[in-house]
Amino acid sequence: KVKDSGKNNYHVFMTDDAALIERKRRIEFGLKEALSRNELYLLYQPKVDLSTGIIYGTEALIRWKHPLLGEVSPTEFIPIAEESGIIHDIGYWVVFEAIRQNKIWHDAGICIDIAVNVSALQYEDPFFIERIKQTLLHHDLDPKYLIIEVTESVMQNVEHSNRVIKELHDLGVKIAIDDFGTGYSSLSVLNNVFIDIVKIDKSFIDGILTKENTASLVKTIIQMGKSLNFHIVAEGIETEEQAEFLKINECSFGQGYLFSRPLLPTDLPKKVT
Ligand code: C2E
Ligand code: MG
Ligand code: MG
Ligand code: MG
Repeated sequence: KVKDSGKNNYHVFMTDDAALIERKRRIEFGLKEALSRNELYLLYQPKVDLSTGIIYGTEALIRWKHPLLGEVSPTEFIPIAEESGIIHDIGYWVVFEAIRQNKIWHDAGICIDIAVNVSALQYEDPFFIERIKQTLLHHDLDPKYLIIEVTESVMQNVEHSNRVIKELHDLGVKIAIDDFGTGYSSLSVLNNVFIDIVKIDKSFIDGILTKENTASLVKTIIQMGKSLNFHIVAEGIETEEQAEFLKINECSFGQGYLFSRPLLPTDLPKKVT
């Protein structure tokens, strides 16, 4: 039996599989307490207008500092939160916190929008729309400044997702399809629902300068997306050359380490002004 041996000497005592299972267990149990212990926080990554470089919004990205494991990536803990059901509480906290922070910026004269990532499970929650509505009212934020980011997996239950998207649209909230290109939906299918924004996945942006196929695919997504009146955002832009390619090919908006990493809320105003 392993005592609290700290992360570094784990492997001395356990096989890799056992260590992974133990880590997952710790994450699952830890998540139950994370909210009440204030271990969760949000960073905000700017989104820029590629032609001017002006920041017009941010995306809220969740972070978790576990007392023993240290920083745990959302790519690791969100799937576990979904499995255990705690994603609902966490998801509502994210919506509340992101709207609260955006309102603070608005009150300070920084009128930018805020995008929140939502998992497909939250989308199934019958109280989802009402809670978003109440949170916007509570903080007195105009719904047009809120963007809900969903992945293509949400579109699997077409009837349900169409209804929720329509309700969000009627509320004045915008919808973005995140990581576009990694799933199976086509732009023409998205055209039949009230989707406002398409975010091209980073894996495509990575290849625009080195892979001819990827470059033409991205050009096609931009052109087709524009003709269907979507706002196109390129994710994960890391170099000037990528930004230049996207600008030349009429992609309007972008996000990535080139412009800014995800920021603490106190650091955002310095970037905007
Ligand atoms: P995402 O929504 O597609 O977010 C983009 C991810 O790419 C973020 O990772 C961001 O930090 C990272 N990124 C942005 N620009 C660059 C770049 O130029 N280079 C590189 N290498 N990476 C870049 P992060 O924060 O680790 O989040 C990972 C994923 O976790 C998110 O992908 C999203 O799917 C999920 N996630 C994050 N926050 C939440 C949340 O509050 N709720 C839910 N349900 N999921 C979340
Ligand atoms: Mg996102
Ligand atoms: Mg994304
Ligand atoms: Mg992505």
